[in-house]
Amino acid sequence: AELIDVPANQLIGSAFKNLGLMVTINQRLDFDQIELLLDEFGFEAVREEEYGADMEEAVEADLEADLQTRPPVVTVMGHVDHGKTSLLDYIRKTNVIAGESGGITQHIGAYHVELPGGRSIAFLDTPGHAAFTAMRARGAEVTDVVILVVAADDSVMPQTIEAISHARNAGVPIVVAVNKVDLPDANPMKVKQDLLQHGIVLEDFGGDVMSADVSAKRGLGMDELLEKVLLQSDILELRANPDREAVGTVIEAQLDVGKGPVATVLVTNGTLRVGDHVVCGMYSGRIRAMLDERNRPVAKAGPATPVQILGLPGVPGAGDQLIAMPADRAAEIAQTRQRLEREKRMRIKSRGVKLTDLSKM
Ligand code: GDP
Ligand code: MG
Repeated sequence: AELIDVPANQLIGSAFKNLGLMVTINQRLDFDQIELLLDEFGFEAVREEEYGADMEEAVEADLEADLQTRPPVVTVMGHVDHGKTSLLDYIRKTNVIAGESGGITQHIGAYHVELPGGRSIAFLDTPGHAAFTAMRARGAEVTDVVILVVAADDSVMPQTIEAISHARNAGVPIVVAVNKVDLPDANPMKVKQDLLQHGIVLEDFGGDVMSADVSAKRGLGMDELLEKVLLQSDILELRANPDREAVGTVIEAQLDVGKGPVATVLVTNGTLRVGDHVVCGMYSGRIRAMLDERNRPVAKAGPATPVQILGLPGVPGAGDQLIAMPADRAAEIAQTRQRLEREKRMRIKSRGVKLTDLSKM
């Protein structure tokens, strides 16, 4: 009751009403009962053996001295048709590293952009709020900065407000892109005033939220926008330890006809290398090959680098964690997770039977 912040008598009431269990306040419940009960309150019970001691030991804390500045990870949000996709497209297309031909060739759910001055930014390539909240619901909070796109001819709209509250709930700072400033009826000043009413105080008004007037279509102001994202990330002092075993988060994954299971992983700490053994969601395997967003093979990927990995025996889920570790331990953890998942599915099945039985009574 304490953990989920629900009064004990409410839990006891729900146990009786929904599970037919008469319990007292100092009675022990078994895992299955806890799982069903928590489900009624929108929580998922997870066994300690699943994510407990083993994983904690696997992801050791870093020493202060080992930490280095890492690039920010950015998600683009905003109201429909305000230009999220156009903005990501523009950045993707113009991001051709000097001396190289061709831009980003494949969609892998994330890409990384090299900027003049040797800095870089990782973009999650799925605009919108659904992806952001889905990742958060799975405990995967990978976004450091949200670019909030607001069209200057339309100003603040319902999904703008929704995006603001998502970012706020996640504690992620916003950089505002006032888009479509090329349009004759664009009114950037109105956007800034409207944002004020939702607690977003831009620098122009003496606040600390940075913004840039842009046109994703014409490419106006985009350098300034990326500059502001870097300034914002400097304030966050984002750091990671590149000299450790890799930890990452699955951004998206699918079964490729030619390559087998492929997963785009954003490395959040450490460095992932070809040949590493990993546990990833319910699977363990050896990284057979890695590809970047230009479809080029890479041997290693450091913090805040998205990379497509090949070599897993199955398709993990978006939001799943990846950890590099010795092969035998990875296999052991994957086996435990698969067993727990099977057991869970059995319980859900048997629960379904119970409910139909009840309805017949
Ligand atoms: P999304 O729904 O937020 O992803 O918005 P889109 O990127 O799909 O853009 C919606 C429409 O606005 C498209 O027709 C774009 O061509 C147009 N658009 C996007 N950015 C700009 C801009 O900077 N200027 C103008 N004039 N049109 C834009
Ligand atoms: Mg779009």
